[in-house]
Amino acid sequence: MTLDADWAERWVRRTAEAVEAAKDELTELDRQIGDGDHGENLHRGFQAVVARLDAAAVEVSGLDTSDRPVGDVLKIVATTLMSTVGGASGPLYGTAFLRASKVSGRPQLDPSSVVALLEAALEGVASRGKAQVGEKTMVDAWQPAVDAAERAAQDGGDEIAVLRAAAEAADKAAHDTIPLVATKGRASYLGERSAGHEDPGARSTALLLGAAMAAALAGPDGGADGAAA
Ligand code: ADP
Ligand code: MG
Repeated sequence: MTLDADWAERWVRRTAEAVEAAKDELTELDRQIGDGDHGENLHRGFQAVVARLDAAAVEVSGLDTSDRPVGDVLKIVATTLMSTVGGASGPLYGTAFLRASKVSGRPQLDPSSVVALLEAALEGVASRGKAQVGEKTMVDAWQPAVDAAERAAQDGGDEIAVLRAAAEAADKAAHDTIPLVATKGRASYLGERSAGHEDPGARSTALLLGAAMAAALAGPDGGADGAAA
């Protein structure tokens, strides 16, 4: 499986679908420890991203786009999220995709480039949010995902193994935010009462990385191997 710009597009479109399906769940999580808008915020943003990608697809239709840098797609995602998603998560995910786009200037990503993409995204979130691990934010999903991706690449895993490691680690890590007390973001206003609830941004990070893996498994034609996996 090649991780090219078409993969990046499938990733983003699958994220939009996953966010739509989980919109109410994300909003409910945010209602518990925030202001109840995380599902709406992300849904609005990723619908706008899909509309931008659809418009761009019409422009390039018929042209050879096989040398299109992966980062081109990620940059569209970044600018669209920044301009359409309010709240904390718009600038955070926007910065993540912008940083990721800057290290993805090639038409294809190998396992170490996938690790670099994820690392850049994590650094974007952490620096924009001035957040570190343990504060009950999306960083608590991103950091374990990057660590697991690095280990998978060091063990000689292919692109799919790296993405799978990241997605599985993020999913577990999102769950592991439940007992944490928030010390960053809106949830920190609740103090101790923020414990006992999953962080919405950590959950949406898990959805995003799950979609990255699913897009790789599915292949260009929407793929039988995706269904089998
Ligand atoms: P808002 O907090 O403005 O309502 P959202 O509801 O869209 O924004 O997103 C909330 C999520 O953003 C939180 O669950 C958390 O994961 C993440 N978040 C909030 N503040 C920060 C921060 N300073 N650093 C990292 N992540 C943050
Ligand atoms: Mg919110």
